[in-house]
Amino acid sequence: MEKPKAVTVEARLIAKKTLTPDVIELLYESEPVFPFQPGQFVSVIVPGRGPGGRDLRRAYSIASAPELTRAGKSVFELCVKLVENGPGTQYLDSLQIGESMKGLAPYGDFVYKPKAGRHALFIATGTGIAPFRSMVFSKVYTDQPPVSGTLLFGARVQSDLLYTEELRDRLGANGLVQALSRPEPGWQGFRGRVTDWLRENASKIVWTETEFYLCGNGAMIDEVKQILTAHGVEKASIHQEVYYKPKPGETHAN
Ligand SMILES: Cc1cc2nc3c(=O)[nH]c(=O)nc-3n(C[C@H](O)[C@H](O)[C@H](O)COP(=O)(O)OP(=O)(O)OC[C@H]3O[C@@H](n4cnc5c(N)ncnc54)[C@H](O)[C@@H]3O)c2cc1C
Repeated sequence: MEKPKAVTVEARLIAKKTLTPDVIELLYESEPVFPFQPGQFVSVIVPGRGPGGRDLRRAYSIASAPELTRAGKSVFELCVKLVENGPGTQYLDSLQIGESMKGLAPYGDFVYKPKAGRHALFIATGTGIAPFRSMVFSKVYTDQPPVSGTLLFGARVQSDLLYTEELRDRLGANGLVQALSRPEPGWQGFRGRVTDWLRENASKIVWTETEFYLCGNGAMIDEVKQILTAHGVEKASIHQEVYYKPKPGETHAN
């Protein structure tokens, strides 16, 4: 599929939902309608929040499939973690229904690449789940699915989990693995970080027949890549989108 060219878009907020205590979902209608591949992002223009009152730009993965429509119109969703005093997230959160933001879209090479005969393991922490939601609900995924598709999602506590029901419906009970690093008593799912899950389930993963997609915290991505390399996974089978880099010495909590 040819990569769509980025254009300037004006996106009108038409719905807003709180998904977890610090994650919001925003639904936009855009003008013009722009084609994108599942996994690509919007570069949002944050007006006047930079040094000397200049505009800033912040990237947000599109969390919905390219085929999403509402009332016959093409729409897209973002899934945004609110960062304290973060200009980008505070700006997006401040917009009221009916107000618009501007951005450039679509950007990015982190897209679902169908590969015959290969499994896919999607690994996310936090809002890193956004591009995977776009991928697994897309037409290209439906038409050309992997041999098996598993989404491994890491968070701290149960209230941080995102899109549980819809992803379980889509991927099946075994296709969604939720790993909690600080679970409350009674949590029935996996206890530990995504890296712990990979180590504990090493014998079940067909390492060299799988495409690995990693998204979220850079510290998690670095650690996962070390595990993959140790299991003989080739670079070409590792696809990544780093949302932010770890500070020196920082490890990932999930
Ligand atoms: C390609 C790409 C796609 C992205 N898509 C998304 C997305 O879909 N949803 C999303 O919430 N963010 C996403 N991000 C991160 C986003 O671009 C911003 O960095 C983030 O929203 C913080 O911006 P800010 O201006 O509010 O705060 P800033 O002042 O720029 O950031 C403050 C600090 O917050 C931390 N931080 C940044 N992003 C996150 C995060 N997601 N979770 C936890 N801590 C974070 C970092 O330590 C950062 O240094 C993406 C980043 C990239 C590069």
